[in-house]
Amino acid sequence: MAIIPFVDLKKQYLSIQPEIDHAIKSVLQKTSFIQGPYVEAFEKEFAAAVGAKHCISCANGTDAIYITLKALGIGLNDEVITVANSWISTSETISQTGATPVFVDCDADYYTINVQEIESKLTAKTKAIIPVHLYGQPADMDPIKKLCEKHNLFLIEDCAQAHLAKYKGKQVSSMGTAGTFSFFPGKNLGAYGDAGAIVTNDDDLFRKAKLYARHGALIKHQHEIEGINSRMDGLQAAILSVKLKYLSKWTKQRQKNASLYSQLLKKVPNVTTPTIRPNSSHVFHLYVIQAENRDSLEKYLKEKGIATGRHYPTPLPLLKAYQRLNMTEKNIPIASKNKDLILSLPMYPELTREQIETIVTEIETFYNS
Ligand SMILES: *Cc1c(COP(=O)(O)O)cnc(C)c1O
Repeated sequence: MAIIPFVDLKKQYLSIQPEIDHAIKSVLQKTSFIQGPYVEAFEKEFAAAVGAKHCISCANGTDAIYITLKALGIGLNDEVITVANSWISTSETISQTGATPVFVDCDADYYTINVQEIESKLTAKTKAIIPVHLYGQPADMDPIKKLCEKHNLFLIEDCAQAHLAKYKGKQVSSMGTAGTFSFFPGKNLGAYGDAGAIVTNDDDLFRKAKLYARHGALIKHQHEIEGINSRMDGLQAAILSVKLKYLSKWTKQRQKNASLYSQLLKKVPNVTTPTIRPNSSHVFHLYVIQAENRDSLEKYLKEKGIATGRHYPTPLPLLKAYQRLNMTEKNIPIASKNKDLILSLPMYPELTREQIETIVTEIETFYNS
């Protein structure tokens, strides 16, 4: 039986093992465990890779959102609009500041925030919009940007799943006030532990975010405010610097794997393959299909040794954590309908043609039996 994991971080490590091992050894020898030269180098390299003026490294992608919101002064009595279909980091950080998350449904074709619906959710309390470039697909940024300009709102791009994705030739993270990234091991650029970053072209935000993430002090013992402790460690930075060099290549391999899946799945009418937004590049953090009889297909693939996932099994507003908002499936019909159909297939740069063919053959066999 073919065992096909959902991601294969070991295979990726082995493909660059000498460089990674050397990087880890260097950090150990210099004992640059927290902050230090490796972190500073990675911040510069990552800012250059996404075309941003500034990069502030932090402990994880969740903190990246939280720090950005705090640095922008968002808090009690404010509202922040985001999408119903995301990982909880996007909305829990809004609540952590004291503000209220306001959920908008996703659009039918692209799984990103439904732009038409945003305007109806704007109130005098709205301070920011956080679109999520979900699965690696850019949200429809032009109309969102327009709304933010018209209503004087901050625009924070959650890029945790979309390193190097482009919208009309522009890098995600470059179109708003700030972009936030996660380097969780399974993300397109993944560390060997937790790590995250904020990028921005705004000098004032850069200073405030850094201040907040570093206990409110840019110079040791000179605490201008109370902040938090959110730092990247040297080992993660050194590992990320090695891996960043391969990110373009790995992204192309993900895109190639996605197009092979979509081409082979054309012969399976029971499955809908992902739609790529025109003039965008989708970086396929996840390859998500909609499948008839999804639960049975999922079970069948599992029996055949093929790992799959659901992203996400429950739209955020329907989670127990958001009971207080009193939202039902009627408020978010598209995300609610999708939740019973979506299935994430194995996706990583190292996935082989043979593995993809095996997966598609099994899907075909399932529907033909
Ligand atoms: C992974 C992820 C985050 C959070 O990143 P962590 O590094 O795990 O804290 C935020 N938003 C989205 C959409 C994510 O997928």
